[in-house]
Amino acid sequence: MADKSQRSDVTLDTIVSLCKRRGIIFPGSEIYGGLQGTFDYGPIGAELKRNVKDAWWRSMVQERFDIEGVDTCVLLHPSVWKASGHVENFTDPLCDSLGPSRKRYRADHIEETECSLYRIADVTDGEPKPVEGAEIWAPAKKKAKEFYQTWWEKHLGLEGRRVKLEEVEGSATTGRFSPDDGGRLTDPRMFNLMLSTALGPVEDSSARVFLRPETAQGIFIAYETARAAARRKLPFGLAQQGKSFRNEITPRNFIFRTREFEQMEMEFFCKPEEFCRNGERTDMEWFDYWRNSRLDWYVRYGIDRDHLKFYDHPKEKLSHYSRGTTDIEYLYPIGWQELEGIAHRGNYDLSQHMEHSGRDLRYFDPQVEQHYVPYVIEPAAGTDRAVLAFLCDAYREEVVTRGDEGKESRRVVLGLHNDLAPIKAAVLPLLQNRPDLVEMARKLAADLKRHTNAVYDDTGAIGKLYRRQDEIGTPYCITVDVDSLEDQAVTVRHRDTMEQERIGADRIVGWVREHLSA
Ligand code: ATP
Repeated sequence: MADKSQRSDVTLDTIVSLCKRRGIIFPGSEIYGGLQGTFDYGPIGAELKRNVKDAWWRSMVQERFDIEGVDTCVLLHPSVWKASGHVENFTDPLCDSLGPSRKRYRADHIEETECSLYRIADVTDGEPKPVEGAEIWAPAKKKAKEFYQTWWEKHLGLEGRRVKLEEVEGSATTGRFSPDDGGRLTDPRMFNLMLSTALGPVEDSSARVFLRPETAQGIFIAYETARAAARRKLPFGLAQQGKSFRNEITPRNFIFRTREFEQMEMEFFCKPEEFCRNGERTDMEWFDYWRNSRLDWYVRYGIDRDHLKFYDHPKEKLSHYSRGTTDIEYLYPIGWQELEGIAHRGNYDLSQHMEHSGRDLRYFDPQVEQHYVPYVIEPAAGTDRAVLAFLCDAYREEVVTRGDEGKESRRVVLGLHNDLAPIKAAVLPLLQNRPDLVEMARKLAADLKRHTNAVYDDTGAIGKLYRRQDEIGTPYCITVDVDSLEDQAVTVRHRDTMEQERIGADRIVGWVREHLSA
């Protein structure tokens, strides 16, 4: 596999602008100027996200004999988060730039650097002082100078005044520096990412509850009830999808990192190796199985295998209870980043909830006639990160030549997998001013709608309508023309090849259904 580190075919800006132009995904609370770290999904985006979730649910729950679905609460008893370790450990290191941008960063996203220190030299008494400790990392010096220059001119009206930097004792030291203004960053301080709210009318500390930062804990606390209800023996899994909330220090990169997002998580409860019989998969074998199976899922739904890779967390960086963690990384336009995490969580979560709740969550294994706490393998995917990956991989721009004169035009296509395409078929009358044609097209769209997500559109010339459907990924456009009234046939145009074929109108529902499931 080619280990590329950058995409040349698509940028994040391209995807963001397509999403905005077509109202697929756009900033939350937009009419009030937006709310940082939140995004709304419009009509096409909502269908796309629903399709991603349905594809996951089908392959993780409905197609399997060993997994059940659950739907647990966003608000959980405060003790859950004490038991899980989130109150104490669900923190990120936060630091601020001492430069004028005052930007905030996650310290673990910024490398410590060996550097020379600089300070702004040309500030004399009576003039605005640079911020305290505005020292600049040598390689970022140029950037910082430009930044300070523009900032001074804009905020302080110091046009024509040249920013000068002077080296402080040429000292080499280690520290973190802002990639935006070159300013030195403060020492990291830990910041808990859980968002809280108050239950009931009295807002005292006893009413304080957290909005879940992951869906997994809901599964652990419902584990025994769900297992008994489904009469399950090990190994088996419980899966769920839903919203999670994290007060991210630096929400950025569109829907990649937001403060409200969706997750698709599955907890697979299995036997520790010592309780396995011959031929039974051990916990480590299940871990391996889920790593591969989850990566295959993305490929199955259209992601280029070369845009996916595993990142195995080094043993020394694993939590004490974990026997292995692997991220599936995707080559986003911003570089390789985590798309999904697969963790072997040992028996940590169930043991913690046993201790804090006083409930016995051990499993009685009739084969060995013993009680023990199951091991858990957790594939945890982010729905919005998956949506972004599918969008990036499906996006392409093509130059199309048409007509005898060879007229060239550009088309944007989302080559989405049929199962993920928001709209499956669009019925388009060639002429909008022919009532008989419009009537036939509307009837066809209504027939199709009973089976799949079809639309009717007569708001433009046919070429324009095709382009509109191409850029939201509709696999089939069905055109009703004047001949259709005579021969009772319509033209089907394929999104990817733009090939057209004539099909009898009475066969169209069957044709579309057959092709969608092919
Ligand atoms: P990161 O290191 O990027 O913050 P994480 O390792 O904390 O992510 P997990 O706790 O393993 O993430 O969550 C499982 C999945 O949920 C991630 O792989 C990702 O797809 C998704 N996810 C986590 N945080 C966010 C977020 N703030 N916005 C969107 N998706 C997220």
